[in-house]
Amino acid sequence: MQAESSRPEIRLQGTAAAPGVGRGPAYLLLQGMAIVACQKVPDVEAELRRFDLALEATRQAITKLRQEVAQSLGESEAAIFDAHLLVLDDVALIDDVSKEVRATGFNVEFCFQEVVQRYIDIFERMEDAFLRERASDIRDVTSRVLHHLLGTRPAHATMAARQQVVVARDLTPSETAGLPEDGVLAFVTEEGGRTGHSAIMARSLEIPAVVGVKGLMEAVQEGDVILVDGETGAVVINPTGATLEGYRSQELAIRRRRDRVMLEIALPDVTSDGEGFALQANIGGPEDLEDARLYCAQGVGLYRTENLYLRLDAWPTEAQQYEEYAEVVREAKGRLVTFRTLDLGGDKRLGDLNDEANPFMGYRAIRLCLDRPDVFRPQLRAILRAAALGPVAVMFPMISGIEEFRRAKEVLTSVADELAAEGIRPKERIRLGAMIEIPSVAAVAEDLAQEVDFFSVGTNDLVQYLLAVDRGNPRISALYEPAHPAVVRTLERIFKAARQHGVATAVCGELAGDPVWAPLLIGLGAHELSMAPPAIPEVRFVLRHSTKDELVRLAQQALALSECSAIKALLADYSATKLKLR
Ligand code: PEP
Ligand code: MG
Repeated sequence: MQAESSRPEIRLQGTAAAPGVGRGPAYLLLQGMAIVACQKVPDVEAELRRFDLALEATRQAITKLRQEVAQSLGESEAAIFDAHLLVLDDVALIDDVSKEVRATGFNVEFCFQEVVQRYIDIFERMEDAFLRERASDIRDVTSRVLHHLLGTRPAHATMAARQQVVVARDLTPSETAGLPEDGVLAFVTEEGGRTGHSAIMARSLEIPAVVGVKGLMEAVQEGDVILVDGETGAVVINPTGATLEGYRSQELAIRRRRDRVMLEIALPDVTSDGEGFALQANIGGPEDLEDARLYCAQGVGLYRTENLYLRLDAWPTEAQQYEEYAEVVREAKGRLVTFRTLDLGGDKRLGDLNDEANPFMGYRAIRLCLDRPDVFRPQLRAILRAAALGPVAVMFPMISGIEEFRRAKEVLTSVADELAAEGIRPKERIRLGAMIEIPSVAAVAEDLAQEVDFFSVGTNDLVQYLLAVDRGNPRISALYEPAHPAVVRTLERIFKAARQHGVATAVCGELAGDPVWAPLLIGLGAHELSMAPPAIPEVRFVLRHSTKDELVRLAQQALALSECSAIKALLADYSATKLKLR
C-alpha cells in the first residue's frame, strides 16, 4: 500500500497513448537549452572556477553515459559520445569563454552561451556534412554544461528514470528511445498526440503512456506520486487510497482480457470462415524482434530505419547501418523484412536539420533522401547488402506522386547495379513499394499501382494530411479523427486501385494495431496489417472471431455513413462485441 500524500489528489485528462496503468514517483524532466539571463558578477575568477567545475562534471557524466551505452548498445553507438568529450576539451572555445567573462564581467552561463552560439553558426554554414554535424554535438554538450551551471536536470537524465513515472512537457523520439527499457513505469507529457512518434515507441516498449495533458507541468511537483492510465487517458496526481483501490479492479479486468486473447496468439491468421490475412510487426531495430517472435508476427511490415539515426543522434555510416540491418534480416530467420528508407523530419529531428516553420510539410523523408545522395545511397547499399542474407522488401516514405517514386526507384536500381558489379546480389527479388500517406498520391493510386509491388498505407500521416490536423498538437487532438468519412472513403479508393492491379496492400499506421479499426481495414480490402508487436494479440483475436462476410459488411456500412460519430460507434460496437466486452 502506498502511503497517502499530504498533497491533494488532482485529476487531469489527456489522450491515451499506450495501454496499461503505471504509477509511481514522478520524475520531472527539464528539457532543451536553458534560458540564461545576463548579469554582472562580483568575482570573475570565482565565475571561471565555476565554469571549470561544470566542465569537469559534464565530462564525468558523459563518460559514465558512454560506458552505459557501450554496455547496452555496443561500442559503435557509444562512440558518438567521443565527439561530445572532444567539445569539452576544445581549448579555443574554453579560452574564448574565459576572455569574454573577463572582458565583460558577465556571468559565465551567459558568456558561454554567447560564444557557443558563434561556434554553432560557423559550423552550420560549412559545406562539409561531417563538419556541419559538429553543430549538433556542440549544442548537445552546451545544454549539458548549462544544466550543470544552473543546477537543472538535462533531458538525457531519462536514462536514470528507473522505477519512476517520467513527466515532461514533450518527449522527442530520441528521448523516448533513451528511456531505460526495464524500468520506466509510465510516461506522461503535456504536449503530443496519439500518433506522435514518442507514443508509437511507448506502445512498442510496452510503457503505459498518456500525452497531451493540459496543465500537467504546473500541477506536478517533484516527490508527487502519479498514476497514468494509458487506457482512458486519465492522470491522477497523488491518488488517494480509494482511487488506487478502484484502479486495482480495472487492472484486473485488463489482465483478464489480455490473458484471454493471449490464448490464441499462436493460432493462424485466418477468419473463422478461412480467409487469410497477415499480421506483421512494426520495429525500430533488432531489439524489437523478440516481441515480434513472442506475438507470432508473420514478418516485419515496417522497419523504421530512422530510429538508428535518432539513437546515435548522428548520421550513421554504411557499415553501422549494415551491421544493424544484417542482424535484423538474420534474426528474422527467413521471414520478410520490409525496410522503410529513412523518414527523418516532422517530429523526428536530427540536430537542427528540421529547423523549419512547418517541419511536417517540409524537408522530410524521401524529399531529404532524393536531395542528399550522400545519405540515401549508403543506406540503400546497406539495405541491399543485407538483402543478400534473406527476403527483403523496400518501401519509400512520403511519396507524393509517380515521378517521385520513379526517381527513388532509379537510385535504388543504380545502387543495386553497383553492388552487382561487386558481386553482391539479393537472396530473393526485392519487392518494391510506396507508402501511401499523402492525399495527392491516394488520388492517383490507380496510376501508382501500375508501378509498385505493394502499397503500405501510413494512416498516421494520411489522416493528418487529409484533415490538415497536426498529429502531435494536443490543442487540436479532438480534430485528429480517423473516423472521418473522408478517411474511410480514401482508404476504399486506395484498396480498390490496388485490387484492380493485383497489388498487395498493407496498413502500417497505428490504425492497423487498433482492434476497433483492424476489422474495417480488412473489410475494405487490406491484406496485411503491421503494428507494434504487443498490439497483435487483440487484433488477431477480433479478426479470427469474424467471418469475411461480416468484415465486408462492416466496411460497406461504414462507407455509407457521413458522420464521424456514427462511424466511430459502428466500429467500437463491432470490436467490443468480438472482444466480448459487452
Ligand atoms: C504513418 O504515417 O502511418 C507511418 C506508419 O509512418 P510514421 O508514423 O513513422 O510517420
Ligand atoms: Mg508516416
